[in-house]
Amino acid sequence: MRTGEDPTKAILSESSLNGKYLCDYSINVATGCRHGCKFCYVPSTPQIRARPDMLEEEADVQNSQKEWGSYVLYRDDLPERLDEHLDRKRTWRETEGGCGIVGISFSTDCYMDGRAGEITQGVVEALADHQKNARVLTRNPILALQDIDVFEQAGEYVTVGSSVPTLNRAEAAAIEPQAPAPEHRLRGLEEFNEYGIQTYVSVSPTYPTMDSGDIRNLLQRVAECDPDVVFHEPINPRAGNAEMCIRAAREAGKLELANELEALRDVDQWVDYSITHLKTVQEIGTELGLPIHLWPDKELLKHTEPPVSDWLKAWRERQSPEEFAGRDTPECDPPEIPN
Ligand code: SF4
Repeated sequence: MRTGEDPTKAILSESSLNGKYLCDYSINVATGCRHGCKFCYVPSTPQIRARPDMLEEEADVQNSQKEWGSYVLYRDDLPERLDEHLDRKRTWRETEGGCGIVGISFSTDCYMDGRAGEITQGVVEALADHQKNARVLTRNPILALQDIDVFEQAGEYVTVGSSVPTLNRAEAAAIEPQAPAPEHRLRGLEEFNEYGIQTYVSVSPTYPTMDSGDIRNLLQRVAECDPDVVFHEPINPRAGNAEMCIRAAREAGKLELANELEALRDVDQWVDYSITHLKTVQEIGTELGLPIHLWPDKELLKHTEPPVSDWLKAWRERQSPEEFAGRDTPECDPPEIPN
């Protein structure tokens, strides 16, 4: 692992994740991520691709996509800079979807290690001091528990969540090779919940090898953690990292997963898998009383017809049922599942 300091002076960026009811701003405690998930879209974004000279100079990175997971440049002074920035900032973006929330961090894991965690702790403190809401996302909530006093102090201003695509430890290890196991993530969230901290789970992206029994097991385990919202989306194989996922699954001996991922290159198969998973998650989630919120890809709308496309559209327009940050939660039932 090559590490260093990120010289960027960026602090807060406006985020388009308000479309997913996540946040209006994002803040990243580092550039690069130890977990090296194979489906990760971050190395293909401008914040990595547009900075080849900096990455080479600071961490000897020659190919930021291929070497993803082996370099991290930390932003150690971010809490102080954020604090000063918030003192000066007079306007605050608050969209219906984003509710003025700051996402920490959607381009790296803010508790991937102790150094990142230290920065995150300072960022959460600075935001809470300025009465701003923070959405912490990490695959390592157990490490975040070391800062439980900070989270307790931030109280209503913070929610902690994790992405848990599957309970299959071996498949997760193939696709997310350096991240803590799914059960580890859920145990961490369970503990946060016991401390009275708001939590959420992103059941995404669900693997194509999962049948309804696997989805039920996963959602039952998620229900035990009692999160405030459960987001879900299927995997998106159109991105340039699809090849990396398939190769990683093959190399880990997960041939069924590799073959199923390969099959999703066919649009019809991808649509079929996506619709099946979205329907199954809504059906089982509702049965279990979970506060589900689906994230259907807008590409799916182009490949489906009413009533399925109407159902997907209704989900894209529906507010998330999470009450965090004073959100008005939807009064109507979730869109009815078409036959
Ligand atoms: S934890 Fe998130 S940012 Fe890090 S590699 Fe995985 S998907 Fe990408």
